This record gives sequence, structure tokens and C-alpha cells, in this order.
Amino acid sequence: MKKMPIHVKIVISLALGVLVGVLLNRFWTPEVWASLGVNDKAAFLASGAADGNQPTWGAHAAKFAIDANRFIGRLFIRCLQFIAVPIVLFSLIAGAASLGDVRKLGRIGGKTLVTFMVTTAIAIVVGIGLAQALKPGSYVGEESKARLMSQYAAEAGKKASEGQERAKSMTAWDQLLDTVPSNPMAALATGQMIQVVTFALVLGAALTVIPRHRSKPVIDVCEALTEAITAIVQAVMSIAPYAVFTLICPIIATTGIDVLGALGVYAGTVVVGLALINFGLYPLMLRLFTPSSNRIGFTRFFRAMGPAQMLAFSSSSSNATLAVNMECSKRLGVPDDIVSFVLPLGATINMNGTALYQAVVAVFLAQLYGIPLTLGDQAMIVLTATLVSIGSAGVPGASVVLMVVVLQSINVPAEGISVILGLDRILDMCRTVVNTGGDAMTAAVVASSEGTLRKEEESAA
Ligand code: ASP
Repeated sequence: MKKMPIHVKIVISLALGVLVGVLLNRFWTPEVWASLGVNDKAAFLASGAADGNQPTWGAHAAKFAIDANRFIGRLFIRCLQFIAVPIVLFSLIAGAASLGDVRKLGRIGGKTLVTFMVTTAIAIVVGIGLAQALKPGSYVGEESKARLMSQYAAEAGKKASEGQERAKSMTAWDQLLDTVPSNPMAALATGQMIQVVTFALVLGAALTVIPRHRSKPVIDVCEALTEAITAIVQAVMSIAPYAVFTLICPIIATTGIDVLGALGVYAGTVVVGLALINFGLYPLMLRLFTPSSNRIGFTRFFRAMGPAQMLAFSSSSSNATLAVNMECSKRLGVPDDIVSFVLPLGATINMNGTALYQAVVAVFLAQLYGIPLTLGDQAMIVLTATLVSIGSAGVPGASVVLMVVVLQSINVPAEGISVILGLDRILDMCRTVVNTGGDAMTAAVVASSEGTLRKEEESAA
């Protein structure tokens, strides 16, 4: 067991988590709880409250097992989250300062943004095209639609009004303005990733302007801190194989697979689209933009990215995956300065999976409501889904709130969200894999264009 590579352990643990989740969902019914003396399961699990009956020791043991597992999962995510802001700050200051030249920073920034935008646009077009071709909306009967809508109506209402509030500041101008913090310390304290990126870049660039003997100690400290945080990441990752089990199991146990019945074609459309981007577009981009003497082929890419992709899947969070994604990109051969620039920026603004998801949902719900989509509507989807993918935070379920922006732009009622809410978490896991993979791919393409991509053997060492 000790010798087994970490990504194999994570895969086994994910598979076991799904299996146990399905079994729990099938066999751990309200009747089983009742036979253990618990009628109100939610109240008992939340506070141990007995609802008139006396819960048996079996019920307490089950509650303990659930609490302990939930604790491990939350602890793991929290450890990864607490690393996110400091690693972006220190590695980016050191990275920008060691680039040593503001013009180089501008050039790398330009290439990064162009790659982000092009892949986002492709993802959206693939999403619209697939949803138009497979017509997932025509597979949901009136009865299933009404059932799903009533089941999730309250939650959807809450998300829709939250989204409407956020929609007010969803213009491109606002988003651009939001990249600059009015108080960098507040941005650090509240984890405003994009503002932290701006602050670190500006500070790093400024360090290249002052005399070297003044800037060197600061750069040394930032480099040492980056190394120390990397050591923390490695320690946290050692519990990953157990933590991913505890993350996935309750999701499958509560969602079940029945919900797939009516929404199977819709979920299939999203998953096929995401797979096309992750396993088609990314390897293709790497094939086109890495030199034949140092090509990143399919196997090299996924061998290096394995742990990051699996962590993205189980955590549903680009931010929580960031530190591991940075490590994996270095293993891929991307040099430190480009990793620390592209990855934090990408975790915040580059979400190809989210963009594709928004596009599929928009077309699916339009089909469900019988609203025909003109060419102009489809252009609106491209525009708004891009804005939403840039504006979504790298946390679970972030983009479903902003869905309203896309739906409003094509006159689809916001309550439509209630139809897709039940499946959102599982599809969130899949789209986060694509979100994080796109950042690593971009970093490799940019490094290759700068001629600094390392060979596989060197990066492994
Ligand atoms: N969970 C996604 C991420 O962290 C964002 C989203 O689409 O909700 O990348």
C-alpha cells in the first residue's frame, strides 16, 4: 500500500466513495433510521436531537461515522484553502520580480489572456452546438419538469434573487474595475483572488525597479515562503486519498442516481462537451503549440496532471486545487515564474468548463420552455457565458448563481434553474476538472512560446 502512487490511491478512494454512496442511497432509507429510533433524520444528524423516540446506539454510531467523515473532508478543503492566498501572493511576487522586466510580464500576460479567451469561446460554441444537436430539452416530459421545479423551487428562488443582485455589476467595465483592489490588505483578508494577483504583480514589478540590494532580501523571503508553503501542500496531500472518499460519498448518498432518469440526456450532453474540451481541445492545443523536440502529448499531460484533475473533481473548487495544480504544472515542465503567473490568474478568470456548462444549460432550458433561439440569442449566450465564467469564484456551485445573467439575456425564466439544481453538484465536479486543466494547458503553451518549457526528464527530477 505504501508503494502505491498517490493518484492510484485517489482513484481507488473515489471509486469506493461512489460505490458506498450509491449503497447508502439505496439501502439507508428513512425506514432504516426509524428502526433505529430516529424519525427526524435531519434534526438528529444536525444536533443529535431525539424526536420523541430514543435513538439506539446504532443510530449514534452512524451519526459519529458521518460526523467524523465530514470532518476529514472539511479539514482537507480548509487546509487547501488556507494555502491558496499566501501561495498566490508570495510565489507571484517572487515570480514577477524574477522575470526582471516589465515588458516580459506584459508579453506573457498578453499571450495568457488570448489563450484564455480563445479556449473559453471554443468551449461555449461546443456547448451550444452539442445542445442544439442532441436536444436534451426534448427528453424531459411535462410531469418530470413540474416535479423537479416544485422540488427545488425555494432554493432556486434564493439563487435567482442572489444572481439578480450580482447581475447588476456584471458589465465588462465593472469586472475590469474589480481587478484593482482599493485596499490590498482587505483583498488578502477576504480572499479576493484576482485583486491579490494584481497586487502581487504590481509589487513584484516594482521590486525590479528599485536597487537590487534593496529588493533581494524581499525576493529571498518570498521564495523561501513559497517553498515552505509547498511543503505544507505536500503534507496536506498525504491525506488526499482518504479525504476524497469523505468528500464524494455524501454527495452521491444524498443525490442518488434516480435524478439522472429525466435529466440523463442533459447530463450526458454536459459531460460529453466537457470531455471533448479536456481530452480533445487541450491535447490538441498542446500538440499544436509545443515543439516536436519537447512535445507534450496526451500521456505526458495527463500523467503530470492526474492528482490535480482528481482533486478538482472531488473538491469542486479551482481555488482549493490551485496549489496542487501549480505543482503538477511544474511536473509538466512549466518553469516556476510562468506557473506562478498563469495558474493563479487562471483559477480566477479562466473557466472553460463553467463556460460550456452555462451554454448547455441555456440552450437546454430554452428548449424546455419552447423558446426558439435566434443567431442573435446565441451570440448573447457567448457573451454572457464568457462574463459569467470570468466572474465566477473558484468555489463549489459559484456559477449556478450567475446563471440568471445568461438566462435573462435570452428571455428564459430564471425559475428554470430549479430543473437543473439537483444535478448541479455532480456536474460542478466535472466542470471544475476542465477549469483547472485549462489553466495548466495555457501555462504550458505560454512557456513553450517563450522557449522555456523544460523537458519531461528534467521536470521529473
Ligand atoms: N466550481 C467551479 C470551480 O471552482 C466554479 C463553478 O462553475 O461553479 O472552478
